[in-house]
Amino acid sequence: MLLQKEREAVVEYGKTMFSKGLTNGTTGNISVFNREEGLMAISPSGIDYFSTAPEDVVIMKLDGTIADGIRKPSSEVHLHSEVYKSREDVSAVVHTHSDNSTIMACLNWPLPSVHYMLAAVSGTEVPCAKYATYRRRQAD
Ligand SMILES: [Zn+2]
Repeated sequence: MLLQKEREAVVEYGKTMFSKGLTNGTTGNISVFNREEGLMAISPSGIDYFSTAPEDVVIMKLDGTIADGIRKPSSEVHLHSEVYKSREDVSAVVHTHSDNSTIMACLNWPLPSVHYMLAAVSGTEVPCAKYATYRRRQAD
């Protein structure tokens, strides 16, 4: 099985994300990118975090090709791929649906950098992206 360690991390942090109230149901998703292998381990679509086993985690190339896995990847797989393509310093993405973040997004309010570590990576604020529904990207 490819990327065993990364699959286990996706499972473990998925449970943590849910337990800490950062998401609910099957919303949100997590990925870990192994840059040496050029492969991403991403949470499967529609499976409860506490029912997800390492073999449910989908292994993908950044072009959207499934390299290994028996499940369908998160519908937000392209968001993860684009982050890894554009940021060589990023090796994991945790996409939550926390109540506070959802409220900030609905109000279209940027998140001020209230901690120096946040300011170090994002400047004075984390901007709020324009609302968009997810959709499957058409082949380029
Ligand atoms: Zn989402």
